[in-house]
Amino acid sequence: MKLTILKETSPGETRVAATPESVKKLVGLGHTVTIESGAGTVAGFPDKAFSDEGATIAKTAATALKGADVLLKVRGPSAAEAAKYPEGLTVIALMNPFAMGDVTDALNAKKLNALAMEFTPRITRAQSMDALSSQSNLAGYRAMIEGAQIYGRAMPMMMTAAGTVAPAKVFVMGAGVAGLQAIATARRLGGVVTATDVRPAAKEQVASLGAKFIAVENDEFKEAETAGGYAKEMSDDYKKQQAELTAAHIAKQDIVITTALIPGRPAPVLVNEDMVKSMRPGSVIVDMAVAAGGNCPLSKPDEVVDVNGVKIAGFSNLPARLPADSSSLYAKNLLAFLPLITAEDGALNLDTDDEIVTAMLLTRGGETVNERLKS
Ligand code: NAD
Repeated sequence: MKLTILKETSPGETRVAATPESVKKLVGLGHTVTIESGAGTVAGFPDKAFSDEGATIAKTAATALKGADVLLKVRGPSAAEAAKYPEGLTVIALMNPFAMGDVTDALNAKKLNALAMEFTPRITRAQSMDALSSQSNLAGYRAMIEGAQIYGRAMPMMMTAAGTVAPAKVFVMGAGVAGLQAIATARRLGGVVTATDVRPAAKEQVASLGAKFIAVENDEFKEAETAGGYAKEMSDDYKKQQAELTAAHIAKQDIVITTALIPGRPAPVLVNEDMVKSMRPGSVIVDMAVAAGGNCPLSKPDEVVDVNGVKIAGFSNLPARLPADSSSLYAKNLLAFLPLITAEDGALNLDTDDEIVTAMLLTRGGETVNERLKS
């Protein structure tokens, strides 16, 4: 197969869909790899590092795409970009499948086959391909680091001759992949950590990291996990009880990290305006769900908002703040996925009954084929 990697065009996107290490493996598997010049520069991978491993460097995106079978990207294309791709090209990226708007028409107009990395099913066989997990893990780590940086005090308890510095109290809301990594990072930094989630499975995971679990554990909570491992949208009554439980707790926290997401739905509001106002000046909220509408209505994408001295940070793309590691793990996810669409002779083969490919395929030959997009 001829694989192409383009420079990312979304504002603030620093990642790249291949690394010199992944190129070496792809070339070793018999694929031809073309990289648009400068695609990896910001992530710390100059053109030469790619060409040393056997990639061809193309000066422009158009040249890189000539004769390509598969385009590997971090972010899905805009409609205008898709319109310029060669007809029949297969695109694999984080397509943002529930918010594609006019991109879907552009993909179908050019008969592009689009595969969304976000739709990798949560089954054991697909774990190595799961880009949401690989990126969320790094994002959770970085959210805690950013929170600690904005917080104007020390994280661990320090007993010095001049007096004692109290440890920071950290509350992580949503204990999925990102939240668990935020908890682990907060613990490493010396914080006193509590966490909440609506999925019962999270309780044990939180405890195993040495944090205290706080949640409304009623019948709805016991059934709040879907077969895919994601949270369901909770009832208004549950959210009310949850808000009552967490309100008093939030008022005593130094750093609150919110990570709660529900696939295909706006993020639930977990920290309302009154809760923000109850916090002490100098405390920090990091809203990791800001790109999905936010867990705090006062957060703004890529801004640090100050509300009576409480700093609310909304980072819309935390993995992009760790571009070398996030690119490296994303490239490995792609590397693990590609064999599923490669025939024995090395050619592209989308004619597969593989449930992983079916789950990820959005458009094919001019049609939207994904059930999750049809409903
Ligand atoms: P996510 O990013 O969709 O959501 C983040 C967290 O927010 C979830 O834990 C969710 O339960 C929580 N949440 C949603 N609404 C909430 C609310 N009102 N209050 C508090 N918390 C709320 O989730 P994720 O991190 O992608 O994954 C969730 C779980 O899926 C993981 O912890 C893991 O157990 C499982 N998982 C399984 C596989 C696999 O089997 N291959 C791979 C990845 C993740």
